[in-house]
Amino acid sequence: MFINEAVRINSANHLEIGGCDCVDLAKEFGTPLYVMDEGLIRKNCRIFRNAIDEYLNGNGLVLYASKAFSSMAMYRILHQEGLGIDVVSGGELYTALKAGFPMERVYFHGNNKTVSELAMAIDNNVGRIVVDNMQELCNINKIAAGKNKTVSVSFRIKPGVEAHTYEFCKTGQTDSKFGIDLEDAFEIFEEASLMKNIRITGIHCHIGSQILSLEPYKLATETMLEFAVLLKDKLGVEIQELNVGGGFGIKYVSEDVQIDFHKYIEAISETVKSFCSQNGIKVPFILLEPGRSIVGAAGITLYTVGNIKEIKGIRKYVSVDGGMTDNPRYALYGAKYDGAVANRADAPKVEKVTIAGKCCESGDLIGKDMLMPKIEVGDILAIFATGAYNYSMSSNYNRIPRPAVVLARDGKARVIVKREDYNDIIRNDIIPGDL
Ligand SMILES: *Cc1c(COP(=O)(O)O)cnc(C)c1O
Repeated sequence: MFINEAVRINSANHLEIGGCDCVDLAKEFGTPLYVMDEGLIRKNCRIFRNAIDEYLNGNGLVLYASKAFSSMAMYRILHQEGLGIDVVSGGELYTALKAGFPMERVYFHGNNKTVSELAMAIDNNVGRIVVDNMQELCNINKIAAGKNKTVSVSFRIKPGVEAHTYEFCKTGQTDSKFGIDLEDAFEIFEEASLMKNIRITGIHCHIGSQILSLEPYKLATETMLEFAVLLKDKLGVEIQELNVGGGFGIKYVSEDVQIDFHKYIEAISETVKSFCSQNGIKVPFILLEPGRSIVGAAGITLYTVGNIKEIKGIRKYVSVDGGMTDNPRYALYGAKYDGAVANRADAPKVEKVTIAGKCCESGDLIGKDMLMPKIEVGDILAIFATGAYNYSMSSNYNRIPRPAVVLARDGKARVIVKREDYNDIIRNDIIPGDL
C-alpha cells in the first residue's frame, strides 16, 4: 500500500516503523521527530557490500557518504557493517573520530578543505584525501612534509558526464566547482608524481545524485578507465583504485522507478571487467559512495498537524509543527514526497493538500498539492523517505530547535540525536558587557 519500504500498518491501524507504533513514538518523543529504521539501514549496507563480493570478488569497498546523514550512532552502524565513509568537513571527521570509526576507511572529500582540516585529517591518518585541485595538492604535500608523513591521495576528475534523476548528458567540459578537468589532469598527476610526501592511489568521479538509470555510470566508468590508460601510457602512472562515486536513486513518489541497488554495481563491474580485459590492464580496486540509497528510505518524519486553511478554489494548506528547518528539500529544489496519516494509516488518499511548515517563508513547504487522506487538526502526519539530506541539512531558522532522531528496531526506539531545547538555541549567544 505504501511506496515506502520502512513502514507498515499495525493492528491498531497505525503506521509502524522498525516495529514501533508511530503514534506512540510521537507521544513518547514529541514531534517533529525523525525516525530511522535500523534494520533497513543495515539491509541497504549489506546489499552494497554483498554486491561487491558477488560482482567483484570482494575487490572493492563501499564508502557511505556522510553528508546524507551523519551522527555518532550512524558511524557505529557503518563500522559494524564493514563500510568505509566519505567525509567533507572537519565536523564530519570529528564525529567519526569520536565514534571510534577506523580512520583508514575514511576518504576526505571537498572542493575547499582548509589547511587546518587537512592537518587534522593527516594527523589522524585518514585513509585517503581526494584531491580537488592543484593548490590543495600543494597544501597537502607541504603539511605532510612538516609532519614527516606520506599521504595517500586520489584525484577527483570531471568525466564530463552529468546525471540527475532520469536525464544525463555528456559534455566536453563540465561547469562545476568540483574536481579537475580531464585536460588539466595530466599536469596535476605529473606534479603529484614528483612530490615526496604524496602517494598516488587512484581516481574519483561523482556524476550526480538521485540517478535512476545505469547508462551514465557505464559512460563515466569508461571515461575514467580511458583516462587511466592514458595516464599509464603518457606518464607511466598506474592507478590502483577507481572510485565511481554515489548518486544511486531511491523512490520518493510513485512515479519514481527505483533500480535495485545491486544492479548499479553489476553494471559498473561489467563495464570495468570488459574494459580492462579489452585494454590489457589490471582491474582496479573499486570504490562506491552511496549516501541517499543507504539511509533515504529508512527515515521518516513525524509531525503534528496544526492549522488547516482552505483557500476556496485555490488550495488547502495543512500546517505542521516543523518545515524547512527540518526538511529544506522542497525549498531548495522542489523535491517531492509521499506520506500518510499515522493515526489512520489505511485512510484512502482523497484530496490534494499543500503541507506547509511554520517558518516565515512562503516557500516553506514539505510538498505542494500532495494527494493525501483527509487530514484533521491533531493528526500525526508521516512523511516518507526523509532519512537522507533532512537532519543533515536542518537549521535553526526562526530559532526553531532541531528535532530528535530516534532509531527503531524490533519494537524498540532509542534516541540517537537529542532534541534541541531553547537553551541550545541561546547557547552561543553573548551579550557584550558594554551593551
Ligand atoms: C554527495 C556525494 C555522494 C553521495 O551521493 P548520494 O546521492 O547521496 O548517493 C557520493 N560522493 C560524493 C563525492 C558526493 O559529493
